[in-house]
Amino acid sequence: MSASERLGVIGDPIAHSLSPAMHAAALEAAGLDWTYEAHRVAGPDLPEWWLTVGRRLRGFNVTIPHKTAVSALVDDVDTVCHATGAVNTVLRAGHRTRGYNTDPVGFLCALSEAGFNPFGANVLVFGAGGAARGVVHALEPLARRIVVANRSVESAQRLRGERLEAVSLDDASLPARVRQADLLVNATPMGMRHLADVSPLPQGATIRSETFVSDLVYGHDTPLLRTARRCGCVVQDGLEMLIQQGAESFRLWTGVEPDIAAMRRACRDRMEILSC
Ligand code: NAP
Repeated sequence: MSASERLGVIGDPIAHSLSPAMHAAALEAAGLDWTYEAHRVAGPDLPEWWLTVGRRLRGFNVTIPHKTAVSALVDDVDTVCHATGAVNTVLRAGHRTRGYNTDPVGFLCALSEAGFNPFGANVLVFGAGGAARGVVHALEPLARRIVVANRSVESAQRLRGERLEAVSLDDASLPARVRQADLLVNATPMGMRHLADVSPLPQGATIRSETFVSDLVYGHDTPLLRTARRCGCVVQDGLEMLIQQGAESFRLWTGVEPDIAAMRRACRDRMEILSC
């Protein structure tokens, strides 16, 4: 490893990513003279970027739309990528590259940070895309039961697990399942940007105050979090998961324990700038 290495994140869009600020803060706190840059790479441009810019980076994060495509470009992937079909972190060692998915560990660390233990929990996950697959992978060994509610029930049925059940978002049983959940997770974009006013909850559904509610959306309050607060629930948005998955990527690239408090501060500062 040379004294100064290059790290980064690829995606499209990428301008609003918090990762450059978050990792710059972690690198500075660790006393590493490395860089971390955002690379806007459109889907069709990935192979060329990989052979030119990508080969000069020690490691990088991968976000939409490349999380699946990158798994075909790396030399090998870890078991979490195998299970979830997604790569969010690449590490280069010499001429070889390895893909990792740090989202599941990031999700569990975020729950732990909030003091919620998912062991034996009844879980209801909204969504069956990449983020939901990471959440389900993390919770499968711990939860008593996981219900995956998705717009397309076929996508939810593709998720495999012993304790897993798939339902559609308009299933008549959903309000009762919301009431039964100890942990509710929104792993859909409902609540963000053009869906800012949309909640994954069925109309009129209420949540028990003991339920922990996690919305993976971050950067703004969502209808789900507002309802959950009104019901007296403890809630968490997606920022802590973002920070914790980034911390795990940082450990893989540097072998150094990151200063997570510095990463949190950098994210909050950047979010403030972006909201102006
Ligand atoms: P994805 O792979 O595209 O999956 C999107 C999921 O949301 C699918 O299940 C899709 O249902 C559902 N969906 C999309 N639009 C919908 C709508 N209008 N109404 C109902 N359901 C809808 O995306 P992803 O990577 O899983 O990301 C999902 C969310 O998690 C995003 O908001 C993302 O920002 C967030 N996220 C946060 C973190 C974090 O660290 N906090 C990490 C990863 C992702 P269908 O199957 O029916 O299309």
